Amino acid sequence: MSKRIPYISIFLVLAAVCSVLFTGCSNSLQSQSASRTELVMNTVATITLYGEQAQEGVNAAFQKAKDLENILSSQNEKSELYQVNQTAYDHAVEVSDTLFTVTQRSLQYCRETDGALDCTIGKINDLWGFGTSNARLPSEEEITPLLVYKGYEQIELNEENQTIRFLNPNIQLDFGATAKGFAADEIKKMLVEEYGITCGLINLGGNIITIGSKYDGQPWGIGITDPNDTTKAISTEYITNATAVTSGNYERYFIQDGVRYHHILDPKTGYPANSGLCSTTIITENSMLADALSTATYVMGLEKSYAYIESLDHVEAIFITDDGTVVKTSGITDDTFEVVS
Ligand code: ADP
Ligand code: MG
Repeated sequence: MSKRIPYISIFLVLAAVCSVLFTGCSNSLQSQSASRTELVMNTVATITLYGEQAQEGVNAAFQKAKDLENILSSQNEKSELYQVNQTAYDHAVEVSDTLFTVTQRSLQYCRETDGALDCTIGKINDLWGFGTSNARLPSEEEITPLLVYKGYEQIELNEENQTIRFLNPNIQLDFGATAKGFAADEIKKMLVEEYGITCGLINLGGNIITIGSKYDGQPWGIGITDPNDTTKAISTEYITNATAVTSGNYERYFIQDGVRYHHILDPKTGYPANSGLCSTTIITENSMLADALSTATYVMGLEKSYAYIESLDHVEAIFITDDGTVVKTSGITDDTFEVVS
């Protein structure tokens, strides 16, 4: 079992440190900075902020991430989601605003991607145990009974009562593919609205969102990890006030009998997606959308994903195929990807 800290995080931390060292404290933003790295939401998170309330902002950001983890984790027995997963079959369970919103939006992304994303594969995901000490190759006899075609259609949401009910006993919710993106958006919103932050970078295990441009007015450089050598960046993209989210087969995996079993599952088979891609990065404004699409496009494969991303406005992608070819959608140019709000 291996969990590597994505190169992207190291790159960004180093970039931030080098910039501070080499450009000097030329403006007031830069002289007031705070940064911290911590394990949260089952991943390594680094939050770096600039401005008067940088330190308070960093503290509040990690607190928010922990609060969201306590609602959305499918592994933590004390989380709200864990309880819902135990009780919601054939029984409408009233849930918090946050859990309802994340469920509603995640299921919407499942529909939009025609089930390449399916956040109801919790039971199959638990069988594999990626990211835990129980990671193992399950047998077909274990997987097959848990395969539910379009499981996301087997969930009944009642908006008025804010309840969730499972219509099939073999589904459980798992927001591994969307929760970090949701958290990144929520943290950014809080930092901007409540702490007046205009410059910063939030990295939740490769799920990156930036606030504004860098303190020197330049765009943030985001290194895309080379799947064949995770200590290197295969390309660098420049973004301002946007998000970049990567799903890769090098993030959580184990190798058995020479085969790499990774954590992005094809909901149709219950086995790791084997679509010819080994990494997908989505660049756009909304981090939850990017998180959902990075996982979904990984499952869909290059051809289908390329057409799908091209059909969406203000969404771009960088795909890396198993043979190492880097393919970028047409909106990825040498210019900065910028969201002007
Ligand atoms: P990471 O967690 O490394 O950022 P992803 O965003 O791609 O990677 O999410 C992968 C996680 O999402 C898995 O660990 C699992 O919990 C869940 N998952 C895996 N495959 C799917 C899928 N096809 N649809 C929905 N969720 C998935
Ligand atoms: Mg994802």
